[in-house]
Amino acid sequence: MLLPKQVAAHLAVLKRAVLHGRVPGQLVIQYTDRCNAQCPQCGMRASNPYQRHSLDPERCRQIIAKAAGQGFAAISFTGGEPFLYLDEICSLSRFAASQGIKYIRTGTNGYLFCGAERAGFLDRIRRLADQLADTPIRNIWVSLDSSDSGVHEQMRGLPGVVRGIEAAVPILAERGLHLSANLGINRNFAGWPPDKELDYGYFYSGFDRFYRFAKSLGFSIANVCYPMWSAPQDQEGAAVYAATSSDQVVYFSRPEKLALFQALFDVIPHHRQQLRIFTPRSSLHALFKQHRGQPQFSSPCLGGEDFFFIDSRDGNCYPCGYRGEETLGSFERLDLGGCRNQAECRRCDWECFRDPSELFSPLLMLRRSPGELLQRWQQDAQFLKLWWEDLRYYRQCDYFNGRSLSQVGR
Ligand code: SF4
Ligand code: SF4
Repeated sequence: MLLPKQVAAHLAVLKRAVLHGRVPGQLVIQYTDRCNAQCPQCGMRASNPYQRHSLDPERCRQIIAKAAGQGFAAISFTGGEPFLYLDEICSLSRFAASQGIKYIRTGTNGYLFCGAERAGFLDRIRRLADQLADTPIRNIWVSLDSSDSGVHEQMRGLPGVVRGIEAAVPILAERGLHLSANLGINRNFAGWPPDKELDYGYFYSGFDRFYRFAKSLGFSIANVCYPMWSAPQDQEGAAVYAATSSDQVVYFSRPEKLALFQALFDVIPHHRQQLRIFTPRSSLHALFKQHRGQPQFSSPCLGGEDFFFIDSRDGNCYPCGYRGEETLGSFERLDLGGCRNQAECRRCDWECFRDPSELFSPLLMLRRSPGELLQRWQQDAQFLKLWWEDLRYYRQCDYFNGRSLSQVGR
């Protein structure tokens, strides 16, 4: 049953999309590119020598104020490792909420959960939980690279972190903070893989194990990040967000990628009542079609139009973390009204932008091109059915509110 407040919020989104062709804005702020982990799938690993930067908190406040003034709904503080600057992130999240930002998110590689075997661990986690609970942060994701603890810890370079996560998750839940498990898909996500092309069966059982593993650790929300491999020649200066990698651990051939998206699409329904699974199946369906050579059955990304990225190096704004050659300059001075994507970009699979772009697309098509919407529906009958199922499921999940439990995932 929808509460009047929720109905009003839905109508506001609908009105903004259908009348003005805009969706609630999302700003990903890379607060720092400093990190203390060793993930091979990421250019920001601690062992990669380059000059690191963090944003100036005052500048960050100005950026947040501008976003709030322009009606942005969501801000994500990412890294590097955001928890290296925990006090600043807590303070900035309070500021964002005071400006009216509703969806405030951040995440961690979980390094603060290491040392579960040491005296004082539980007291330390209780203090951390109190600190986080006393903020308006709505969602906190904790990275997991594999359903095999040993593989995850070796990849991250964080020994013992899984035991600490298992101990910390219920302590945070007692304070009303329900953490999200965040799988960055890589070739090791189901354990060390065989030295051959990976197939549908391998991926299916891997995702099935991952969701069971997340549930067993106490998580009630789970998400996956699609693999972000880029060729070595494209690494130079292209992506501004160094979370891409040319390492083979995130490389999937085209047949592997198709099998991977299909397996994830098929596994999700089996876990959707035990865990709140953020990944929309309508988006997986569209990505599958795009990678099969039918981009017309996927939606262009809203990066650079309604979604933006702030880089920790220079504080400048970019259409996303990947179109590093297209700096938009200072976000505070950016004319957001003039940001219209000519590019119809589908260059990467970055779920932070691709998933919500797909979810909002039917509303935008309704305004921009109802004929195209009808045509897509006629040619791909599943498209609107999956979209509607995702919307209903999101509502059942209380829109993944990490500050409450929903009927799903208890
Ligand atoms: S994936 Fe995250 S934790 Fe790992 S090196 Fe990159 S920024 Fe650090
Ligand atoms: S598809 Fe990728 S590269 Fe293109 S705007 Fe979206 S996030 Fe950026």
